[in-house]
Amino acid sequence: AKSSEGWHWTPSGGLVAGIPSKGVIQPSQNIKQSDAVFDVIVIGAGYTGLTATRDLTTSGVKTLLLEGRDRIGGRTWSSNIDGYPYEMGGTWVHWFQPHVYRELSRYGMINELVHSTDFTKKHNYFSFATRSGRRTMSHEEEDEMFSRAMQKFVNVDGNFGKTVMPFPFDAYWNKNVLKYANLSVADRIAQIRHDLSEDERHAIESFVLLCSGGTAQNSAFLDFLRWWAAGNYDYRTLLDTIIVFKLKCGQSEFARRFFNEALATSNLAYSFNTVISRVDSTNNTVRVTTRDGRAFQAKRVICTAPLNVLSKIAFNPPLLAEKTEASKLKHVNQCVKVHAEIKDPEMRSWSGVTYPDNKLVIGLADGKTPAGYTHCVFFGCDANHIHAEENIDETLKAVKKFAPMDVNRLVFHNWSKDEFAEGAWVWYRPGMEVKYLEALRRRQGAVLFANSDWAAGGWRSFIDGAIQSGTEAALTVRGELQGESRASHL
Ligand code: FAD
Repeated sequence: AKSSEGWHWTPSGGLVAGIPSKGVIQPSQNIKQSDAVFDVIVIGAGYTGLTATRDLTTSGVKTLLLEGRDRIGGRTWSSNIDGYPYEMGGTWVHWFQPHVYRELSRYGMINELVHSTDFTKKHNYFSFATRSGRRTMSHEEEDEMFSRAMQKFVNVDGNFGKTVMPFPFDAYWNKNVLKYANLSVADRIAQIRHDLSEDERHAIESFVLLCSGGTAQNSAFLDFLRWWAAGNYDYRTLLDTIIVFKLKCGQSEFARRFFNEALATSNLAYSFNTVISRVDSTNNTVRVTTRDGRAFQAKRVICTAPLNVLSKIAFNPPLLAEKTEASKLKHVNQCVKVHAEIKDPEMRSWSGVTYPDNKLVIGLADGKTPAGYTHCVFFGCDANHIHAEENIDETLKAVKKFAPMDVNRLVFHNWSKDEFAEGAWVWYRPGMEVKYLEALRRRQGAVLFANSDWAAGGWRSFIDGAIQSGTEAALTVRGELQGESRASHL
């Protein structure tokens, strides 16, 4: 089915809004009149909400899943064009990400993993275009340059970050790490500038902005340190973990496994195209009101709306002041992700950077399309930001700045203008994590707040963090409700 979200451009068809996805749920709702009061209402059907919903329904908890979009997956979803999945958001997973890998294993999907990279074709090189000029290098030289530069960037402790952050899933274990809480990426680059070649500086900036989706000034250094630690303090391992292994069937197929398992229990009621506007709590009952005036009640609510849109929902009692403040301040990630089908099978081994004078910063070959062409994916950020659908010519120009390319198709989702996300994966501003994280994670009475944006673990901001967060919330709620029902039988 076609989602109303996403954009598709071809030279003959022009720009079309909406793309097909396995994540679209039809019929869009299954609520019966008799469904008056639920055990739990889960707001949001991203991986956090899907995991919580699956875990609750399979434990016998009557759950209502409410989602503003026409599909599951939230910031992770794939379009299926001619049977080929283009990932609009979350894509890459790895066995070093424990929560997501456990789920892949549980659903028997380990053999669905494929490489984005394939270094066997003719254009097997990296293009590097900066203010110092344009040149190409081998992927080995590329890795060597980025690795050297990133080591300088993270080496705040003479031990490449291992001393200050020995446990990425317990990031403040060494309290000395808090010294870096207010440091921006730009501040850190300034500290080591004397020791950086122009190439290394461009390498750091382009790679870190790929990770943060922000600007060097507004992106926190601490978030990068955590990614680095979770990636085993090694550039190549970090790359393998965050940008190499994806699902052949597409993320939406994975997300469906959660949804289908929940549905099969008969404990799941759901409604899509259902935007939540209010959440009112009284005496252990929570009333959730939709923008179109419907109201539902439950004993508990798990709200999974992400940081940048959380404060758009009116809560009574009101959201904690810190939650509102953080949501209004917003995280910085305005990543632009654009897929291009390139009419050249030999581009399959290519990658490149054009920085800082292009609207897209990093590009890499990501697959082979059914037509036998190369699928490349390009990333931009808040610095030099572009709304791809507003100016397709400019978007095509940005793609072609990497290398001469005959573009047969563009596919993308504008996360900045997305009313249910207003940005991509979380990347905090300097100081923001330490100031707000604990409050963001805190429940308010019968309402729990779960999302990858404030997941406890090392892979916060990833699918892994979403699954971790949804697992925790479901476990808490299930324990409370099943404790209550045991007590009422006494
Ligand atoms: P979300 O997916 O945002 O889910 C929240 C849900 O709540 C959404 O479906 C939303 O529509 C709904 N909602 C919000 N407000 C309301 C409301 N008022 N009423 C009803 N519903 C509402 N992660 C990786 O692991 N690997 C990657 O390669 C990767 N790449 C990424 C690339 C991009 C471009 C983006 C955007 C993200 C990427 N991520 C990646 C991050 C990953 O996608 C997210 O961390 C994860 O999907 C977040 O899941 P979530 O359920 O916590 O939040």
